[in-house]
Amino acid sequence: MERGVLRRLVVASNRLTVATDTRARAGGLAVALLEVMQSHGGLWFGWSGKITAKTPAKPTRTRSGAITYATVDLSRKNYAEYYNGFANRSLWPLFHYRLDLTAFNKQNYSGYLQVNTLFASKLRPLLEPDDLIWIHDYHLIPMGEELRKTGIKQPMGFFLHTPFPPMEILTALPSHHALVRAICAYDLVGFQTENDLRAFLDYVVHEADGGMMGDHLVHAFGRTLKVEVFPIGIDTEYIVKTGLMAPRSGLAKRLMTFPGDYDRIIGVDRLDYSKGLVERFHSFERFLENYPAYRGRVMLMQIASPSRSEVPEYRDICRVLEAKAGHINGRFAEFDWVPINYLNKSFTRHNLIGLYRASRIGLVTPLRDGMNLVAKEYVAAQNHHDPGVLVLSRFAGAARELDAALIVNPYDFDAVADAIASGLEMSLEERRERWTAMMETVRNNTFQSWGKSFLKVLKKAPYE
Ligand code: UDP
Repeated sequence: MERGVLRRLVVASNRLTVATDTRARAGGLAVALLEVMQSHGGLWFGWSGKITAKTPAKPTRTRSGAITYATVDLSRKNYAEYYNGFANRSLWPLFHYRLDLTAFNKQNYSGYLQVNTLFASKLRPLLEPDDLIWIHDYHLIPMGEELRKTGIKQPMGFFLHTPFPPMEILTALPSHHALVRAICAYDLVGFQTENDLRAFLDYVVHEADGGMMGDHLVHAFGRTLKVEVFPIGIDTEYIVKTGLMAPRSGLAKRLMTFPGDYDRIIGVDRLDYSKGLVERFHSFERFLENYPAYRGRVMLMQIASPSRSEVPEYRDICRVLEAKAGHINGRFAEFDWVPINYLNKSFTRHNLIGLYRASRIGLVTPLRDGMNLVAKEYVAAQNHHDPGVLVLSRFAGAARELDAALIVNPYDFDAVADAIASGLEMSLEERRERWTAMMETVRNNTFQSWGKSFLKVLKKAPYE
């Protein structure tokens, strides 16, 4: 528990992170929540990551430092319908504006509701009257409403880590009304950017007959709730410290023995269609076509950590990327240089920080992203004497804050190619100026301050 604060924090998220688990893992939410839980302490509830024939009657409880974990196993059917089905084949693509990849299925929706009801029923007996409850992300939208049905009066917040789609996209979801009604069961709803908040308000006003009452208050579905923007940050201090030590690490020594004298461009993403990896490879190919002088002098290291490989759309993109990397390497490689170093595996954050620091350009070009922590991590990891350049998609939430990056449209391959060239040619003075501006933002808005500011507002609920 945060010192001086008497209320216990109860967090619910689909996946949990155990502090002692040092394996390489990708995903902004898991990393951010661990930091918040470590500094506040409390109860962390969610899926155990295990699939069992029968869901045990009680959650499994374990303790690690100030965090008590309570986890629930899922049946294969629940996992298929709730996680792979509705969450990752309906909500994820829809929330990333990808109607073309959105699959609607009644059965999956029903499995999604069942798991949310199950989670609410398993968490309910563990709750205490003074708890502050904070539920996370698109997997668990209805969980708060389910808890309310059991008589829960405690302040309950929800944070959406993904974008919130425009009304015209959201209304393509057959259950859009029920979904937004469920969001309105919370006291406080947090979004990553003003854009997401605007889209939500647009829906509330035009589709739900709701209204805004000033001071971030919204009235809809018979409830009053607060809606605010809380852009998520990173553990800046840890990254700066690790970055300082990186040149002495084993990884740095191995990098130095890598043959050739070239500038590295780095991309680090989960292998997800929202990250714009295919478009990024097209842009890099365009860069090699339009700027032939850089052939043999620049290498793109693209880390694409495996993700959701049971979902068909993810397997498809994996094949497309392998083919595209192979094509570019086949077209441009020389006996002593390959243009793309494509790594289809995960790295520890510690090693990533070393790679960010050893890269002249951070190439972060999602087609749509709630925030994108990699962009912020790249900035924090730089050497302040000689910082690299961030090339950032205008469609990443992070672009709202990191406007001193070279902002690009990831669909415009020529423009991305030009930005890569500008980054490589940029003077030290300009690089430092841009980096200093971004670093100020990254220092002012950290994981820790993000958690604190959300909880500060949540503690004041109810707002009526
Ligand atoms: N990450 C990692 N290992 C990898 C790839 C990514 O630890 O191999 C981490 C990365 O450092 C970042 C997070 O996963 O903290 C990705 O967060 P981001 O917001 O960029 O994207 P998300 O995966 O949440 O969509």
